[in-house]
Amino acid sequence: MRQRERQIISHWQRTLAVPPIAAMSLVLCATAAIGAEKNYTAAFEDAFNMTMPAAWSQKYPATQIIGNLYDVGGYDLSSFLITSDAGHILINTGLEGSAAMIESNLKSLGLRMADIKILLTTQAHFDHTADLALIKEQTGARLLATEADKLFLEDGGLSDPLIGGIESFRPVTVDDVIRDGDVIELGDIRLRVLEHPGHTEGSASYAMTITESGNSYHVLVVNMAYINEGVNVAIKPTYHGIGADFEKTFESQRELSPDIWVSSHKSAYGFHEKHAPGQAYDPRAFYDPTGYIEAVRLHEVTFVNKVYDELLGKIADNSKAGEVNGTK
Ligand SMILES: [Zn+2]
Repeated sequence: MRQRERQIISHWQRTLAVPPIAAMSLVLCATAAIGAEKNYTAAFEDAFNMTMPAAWSQKYPATQIIGNLYDVGGYDLSSFLITSDAGHILINTGLEGSAAMIESNLKSLGLRMADIKILLTTQAHFDHTADLALIKEQTGARLLATEADKLFLEDGGLSDPLIGGIESFRPVTVDDVIRDGDVIELGDIRLRVLEHPGHTEGSASYAMTITESGNSYHVLVVNMAYINEGVNVAIKPTYHGIGADFEKTFESQRELSPDIWVSSHKSAYGFHEKHAPGQAYDPRAFYDPTGYIEAVRLHEVTFVNKVYDELLGKIADNSKAGEVNGTK
């Protein structure tokens, strides 16, 4: 893992180390200091005593992944645009302020924000959702989400079992609920919905086939089953059923065999190893079926280790309690 990825992940992990109740009192001070105009990013940073990684708000040029799929997000936080003659689909925003960067990236491709018709997200965490409300307002696009993530999107992350207790982004209304196996159609786009819960209760991935220069590619926009610091999957689970959700996701992801896969963070799918700024378009630049299998395996091994750690921790706690009680 590269240094930058480690920095990004450790920032995110530190984010989650503060209990929501402590965070709530801190955020109240933060919001009062800011005044009427709510700045979710600053409030979150104050509440959790952290600074967002610079790479999360760093601009990056729009990049054609393959065919009509582009990454129009920033240096690390991906936003995916799928284009068609009938309008476009946008998957994910970044932090607050990312809408302007997405717009300038669309302009660089000769495209207009106004032609975004459908909004989606891979997970209802603020680093992928913060500007959904603004973009929806600007474009009139319909926001589709899984049932479980609808709740978090509509309350701005307030009820998130891990980093809830505060609004971490502007709440946004979901127009329609999408389910595993649904196919989202727009022009000639056919995007299959895959529910991949665990990272958030309603995390989702999206699969499609893209034909380029006579070759068909299985393409996957995947939400990897990453376990945030502070999450419990077995003992005192972060939410009821989280362990089974992760297992269901691994089962589904093991069965997929994308030729090209992209994910919510550029660092998670090796973007910067696969592509340099200004590099000429090559439909095979992101061709990486092996990397996908390895990434799924790595997350699954991490999950299994996490279950063991939690169980061993419980056994150790029980035996300590036994010693104190003299029961052994
Ligand atoms: Zn997340």
